[in-house]
Amino acid sequence: MEKEAAMMTMTDTISVLVIEDEESFIEALVVGLKREGFLVNVARDGVEGLELFERSRPDLILLDLWLPKKSGIDVCREIRSRSRIPIIMVTAKSSEIDTVVGLEVGADDYVTKPFRLRELVARMRAVLRRSGVPEIAEVSADTVEIDGLVLDPERHEVHLDGRPVPLPLKEFELLELLMGNAGRVLTRETLIDRIWGPNYVGDTKTLDVHIKRLRAKVEAEPSRPARITTVRGLGYKYELPRGSGAP
Ligand code: CA
Repeated sequence: MEKEAAMMTMTDTISVLVIEDEESFIEALVVGLKREGFLVNVARDGVEGLELFERSRPDLILLDLWLPKKSGIDVCREIRSRSRIPIIMVTAKSSEIDTVVGLEVGADDYVTKPFRLRELVARMRAVLRRSGVPEIAEVSADTVEIDGLVLDPERHEVHLDGRPVPLPLKEFELLELLMGNAGRVLTRETLIDRIWGPNYVGDTKTLDVHIKRLRAKVEAEPSRPARITTVRGLGYKYELPRGSGAP
């Protein structure tokens, strides 16, 4: 029962990386974001920020402009060179130059301190929704293997713990897209666009029906999915294994 209640939180699986050095500000932000249901990691300088970005694979980054060791601009540039992850710049003063520079190096949005948590969360949800399409990885021809589930795009085959899992075309494509973007939230719009085409006008429940069928085939407990999880209000996500090698 408790689990069900927790799952009602819209943002329960969205993880946010806060890269910020102002201690008093961090505290308020972390408390506020956790109360909103986000998972929060904090890095206190630019170098640590880049390390944590690699390690924690967040869904969104809140990036302060002025940071020790490496500026927010440089951090943003480096992350952008290899990822489409949504980045919201946090600027200390409402200087237009900061804003322009922030957006030029690839930030998706910015907020100016001080801001209200409600405003920040609204912007976070907006960039997460918008980010669905550009965030998505190109489907590669390489075989993907996550936690015993193997998808081979060339042979069009899926195996779970060595046993073949026959899948109809749409289910295969859906799984391919989700596994190819493991660890990232794919919005409903993105998934429908990519699998059924941008002009699809059918019932959006079609997506849920396909997800349900997929879960029945690849999840140990389809009613409590561990691979393909629902991100309330946004879409679906293929989970990366937690600590490889763990039982
Ligand atoms: Ca700062």
